[in-house]
Amino acid sequence: MNSIDKLSEIFSHFPGIGPRQARRFVYYLLSRNHNFSEDLIRAIENIKREITQCSSCHRFFTKNGSPSTLCSICADASRDSSLLMVVPRDIDLEAIERSGSFNGYYFVLGGSLPILEKEPEKRIRISNLEIRINKDWEKLKEIILGMNANAEGENTADFIKEKFKNLDIPFTTLGRGLSTGAELEYADPETLKNALLHRSK
Ligand SMILES: [Zn+2]
Repeated sequence: MNSIDKLSEIFSHFPGIGPRQARRFVYYLLSRNHNFSEDLIRAIENIKREITQCSSCHRFFTKNGSPSTLCSICADASRDSSLLMVVPRDIDLEAIERSGSFNGYYFVLGGSLPILEKEPEKRIRISNLEIRINKDWEKLKEIILGMNANAEGENTADFIKEKFKNLDIPFTTLGRGLSTGAELEYADPETLKNALLHRSK
């Protein structure tokens, strides 16, 4: 494998990027001056060095030299500890935070479950979610499943509800202000606010 093939192969692992787009990235890099590649290499090294994963919600956050293992949201004691919202990815959490319509805490699953997934435990952080719920079960009054409004999202919500069916805490899902197929990431703040207001059991 030559170095163009090798880098293309790496880029093709990125979400939504196929082999042809991956190759276009490589040729684009080759067409730019040396500084561009240097900046890219440094930026990748920096995220690896400066970003860590929150020990409670599992989102990625900037350490800023602090020894805390909690992100700014989990470290914020003024938030409502009776509400926990489970979201697929960091980017979904960011969309909901931006909408300003939720004041509880989050848990980032790290993905969602395709229908007929054989190893759901490996695909999402279900055991970490269990630890998170157990830690606060006395305070929790509601767990909101903030899933995308598509088959994978529904499948993931069903799996979580089944897994915790013996738990005495209600699970709710976002209202269908989110149109079918909608991904949280692309929903506007008003839609997210309505989806949260109209959540259901
Ligand atoms: Zn956190």
